[in-house]
Amino acid sequence: QNQRKLIIASNRLPLSVKPKDGSYEATTSSGGLVTALKGLSYSDYLWLGWPGVEIDERDRGSVDEALAKENAAAVYLEENLAQNHYNRFSNGVLWPTLHYQSEVSFDNETWDSYQRVNQIFADRISEEAADGFSLHTPFPADDFWRGLPVQKQLLDGVLGSDIIGFHTDEYKANFAGACGSHLGAEVEGGNIHYNGRTIHFDKYVVGIDCQRFADTIEEPEVQTRIQELEAQYKDKTIIIGVDRMDYTKGLPEKMEGFRVFLDEHPELSEKVVLIQIAIPSREDVKKYQDLEAEVSKLVGQITGKYATPQSTPLLYIHRSVSFAELTALYSVSDVCLLTSRRDGMNLVASEYVACQEARHGVLVLSEFTGAAAFMKHGSLLFNPSNADGLSKALYDAVTMEKKDRKKMYEELRSFVTTNTSAKWTEAFLGDLMRLRE
Ligand code: UDP
Repeated sequence: QNQRKLIIASNRLPLSVKPKDGSYEATTSSGGLVTALKGLSYSDYLWLGWPGVEIDERDRGSVDEALAKENAAAVYLEENLAQNHYNRFSNGVLWPTLHYQSEVSFDNETWDSYQRVNQIFADRISEEAADGFSLHTPFPADDFWRGLPVQKQLLDGVLGSDIIGFHTDEYKANFAGACGSHLGAEVEGGNIHYNGRTIHFDKYVVGIDCQRFADTIEEPEVQTRIQELEAQYKDKTIIIGVDRMDYTKGLPEKMEGFRVFLDEHPELSEKVVLIQIAIPSREDVKKYQDLEAEVSKLVGQITGKYATPQSTPLLYIHRSVSFAELTALYSVSDVCLLTSRRDGMNLVASEYVACQEARHGVLVLSEFTGAAAFMKHGSLLFNPSNADGLSKALYDAVTMEKKDRKKMYEELRSFVTTNTSAKWTEAFLGDLMRLRE
């Protein structure tokens, strides 16, 4: 049992800070890592990050106090610096590059802001932290990566860690290749030798807390909601989609593919319903505003063509839903359709599986998700740029025989229950602690 203090740093704290009764209050948003940490021996941890809003100097004392109660501490940033760092460099340059997109708008001002924010973080954590870095996006092939003018500086910065984690073998190999080609680092098995240091890098499979979903399904209000939805859709096959409104998620591709599916099987237009939850995301960034407009237009075209006064084959929800509602929706759906153009892992795929023990629903999964590398035997894979291929995979899913559903489901279930968030944390932090000793 290792009781050494663990420092976790991420851009945003997994908490929101709000004024309350003249002081401040911090409320937890329960992500996978938070849940996983709760079940572990690393009770002595401190989570460092930006609170998401600019906090006036005179209020910082009470914010610090509120955060301390949640094992967290703030890295304060001025609004403008935070905007340039997060919206312009991180979301405008890094995010598209890491997702194999070549359309990026690099400029030196935002790069300076990014470096300054990283320096502020580094100063804040340098006294106590063990250095581990985990990348929760893809790491792209070199043709994409080397297009970024500051790629060598970024690689050099990441190699300041003792341990670096990736989701898949592909990202891991791409990263090692980049370090070899651009920095002359020497890669040997799971180690990178660079500037006289040895850095460990590996694949650590992220997962979810299946028990949390199983427990939620059992709650009386969720059971009631499941029965309500089942009654409402008793003659329909429900297809569920849950994605952040992000161009990497392939929402226009999903709509195009679904349109082809309806055009080819008009007799199914009153028998299936696609319920698409699009979680609002990065709404300050122009590219995300354009995407929202594009998706709305496609949704309008499909419902315009296929809705009747009695029913519609498409329900589009551009809002967040509660965890209870999400769990109920996952549970009643026969198919989950995920069409990412690129996706580091995709945890929605695992969450859907966790809620399907009774129904054995079919996972229709883009081959460009990290999840596809692990779940390919239990799901129907397709390329989202090919609307016909998407339509065919969806048709195969909605018409699949019970016994085949069960067989595929068992494959998925064994992956999801074996590779949990707790196991990821144990593996990554375990290796990190061993390296430090
Ligand atoms: N999710 C959410 N709000 C909602 C619906 C879902 O935060 O209204 C969660 C979902 O349960 C999942 C996460 O958003 O845990 C999406 O994670 P994923 O790995 O699929 O993609 P990412 O958003 O990290 O790119």
